[in-house]
Amino acid sequence: MAYDFDLYVIGAGSGGVRCARFAAGFGAKVAVAESRYLGGTCVNVGCVPKKLLVYGAHFAEDFEQASGFGWSLGEANFDWATLIGNKDREINRLNGIYRNLLVNSGVTLHEGHARLIDPHQVEVNGQRYTAKHILIATGGWPQIPDIPGSEHAISSNEAFFLKELPGRVLVVGGGYIAVEFAGIFHGLGAKTQLLYRGDLFLRGFDSAVRKHLQEELTKRGLGLQFNADIERIDKQADGSLEVTLKDGRKLLADCVFYATGRRPMLDNLGLENTGVKLDKRGFVEVDDQYQSSEPSILAIGDVIGRVQLTPVALAEGMAVARRLFKPEQYRPVDYQMIPTAVFSLPNIGTVGLTEEQAREAGHRVQIFESRFRPMKLTLTDCQERTLMKLVVDADSDKVLGCHMVGPDAGEIVQGLAIALKAGATKRDFDETIGVHPTAAEEFVTMRTPVAG
Ligand code: FAD
Ligand code: NDP
Repeated sequence: MAYDFDLYVIGAGSGGVRCARFAAGFGAKVAVAESRYLGGTCVNVGCVPKKLLVYGAHFAEDFEQASGFGWSLGEANFDWATLIGNKDREINRLNGIYRNLLVNSGVTLHEGHARLIDPHQVEVNGQRYTAKHILIATGGWPQIPDIPGSEHAISSNEAFFLKELPGRVLVVGGGYIAVEFAGIFHGLGAKTQLLYRGDLFLRGFDSAVRKHLQEELTKRGLGLQFNADIERIDKQADGSLEVTLKDGRKLLADCVFYATGRRPMLDNLGLENTGVKLDKRGFVEVDDQYQSSEPSILAIGDVIGRVQLTPVALAEGMAVARRLFKPEQYRPVDYQMIPTAVFSLPNIGTVGLTEEQAREAGHRVQIFESRFRPMKLTLTDCQERTLMKLVVDADSDKVLGCHMVGPDAGEIVQGLAIALKAGATKRDFDETIGVHPTAAEEFVTMRTPVAG
């Protein structure tokens, strides 16, 4: 049968665009449908605008610390509208770049909502298109628990477009987004509290990292409330929000921001017209080559709920393009040693196993740790400390994990990830000459284990 396209991609986000461009480059006839914004979550309401706001929030401490270096500044004023306006302009520019990337690589772009009609057919804007393969790359959507008054809460989607900076913010959740946005709001001057339902936020990260960040955020005056869960939210006559916690306490806020995870975006996708199955958590179930239970339909990125990170969606998109149209170049995505950063203030950077994971996996571990005041702060009153930690297998000497809390941790951990992926041992770290004076050199100068 002749199809309109070799590949029809639903969703022009990180994974979809990567797959479409490379598939077209390999000679396939490709179309992409996008219902909302080119570049998807990362470009529009994720990584990129978030990082711009983090940069914005960082200036508060830069101004504070400048006096130690002899600078005297006038009163610093922050204007939210300027930051958001400039951010919007930059995102607009990136949307244009994504459009050009697709068009220049020969991909047909359909701007509209795509719905599956059958295993080989998609409908967009009333038009039907057939394709040999269909890729679901529709990403995710914020999930707010259904509590009384949840309609008064916002998610990251709205936070990027607030008309003004709220005076008092309650951030709910203890994952990446909660910690990053708590830092943004606090840094920009809002009175901010983070409420997390468990004992300590950032479940899954190394426990030393979690405790260190807790201490650093507390030093900065960011309110952290653990074992705190919201029962209801009531809007007051003056527009403020009264938040009642499950333990009966009441808090007042101007903005309640939920960052409690993301669900797969499958709304009105027409999956019922196909044999695509979902897993227990509701994400699209795929095999190790991203094929769903419907042979002509594949899925990648956040919608499969494996690792919800842009570089992972990119790698999966690339793998699918190669598997379908350049099989001789196909390489499976390696989910080991994925480095990641939390752009909290200060940053977390991490790669490999946490101490807890290493012990659980049966490794006899040696732990190396360094805590110090960054050199830049020695001329200031700031008491922030940096944490660096190495988890080493005592038998093979392999470095199993690197963890850092401190300035530029995300930048530093990228290079370490290459070393770990290449199987570096602690001896390799020790024999590597440091770059002086940097914080990063500490990773190659830790000599005495703190725990075995
Ligand atoms: P998406 O990028 O979400 O793309 C899916 C696209 O499909 C969207 O454009 C959507 O409009 C479109 N779509 C959905 N349904 C349809 C339909 N039926 N028809 C047509 N189009 C449709 N990751 C990092 O690595 N680093 C970070 O710093 C980082 N920060 C983040 C900050 C926030 C606030 C959030 C929310 C996420 C962040 N992420 C970060 C995660 C990252 O954004 C996602 O992992 C990544 O965007 C997933 O890519 P994707 O291709 O799976 O989906
Ligand atoms: P996460 O899954 O990281 O965190 C969700 C948080 O919400 C957890 O602390 C969880 O608690 C809590 N939670 C879940 N349900 C409830 C509930 N009903 N009531 C109260 N608390 C609840 O999700 P995020 O929304 O922060 O981010 C989504 C994903 O996006 C991340 O996992 C990450 O993959 C990606 N991302 C990456 C970034 C980066 O690379 N820097 C930045 C932002 C997002 P518990 O731990 O107890 O389950």
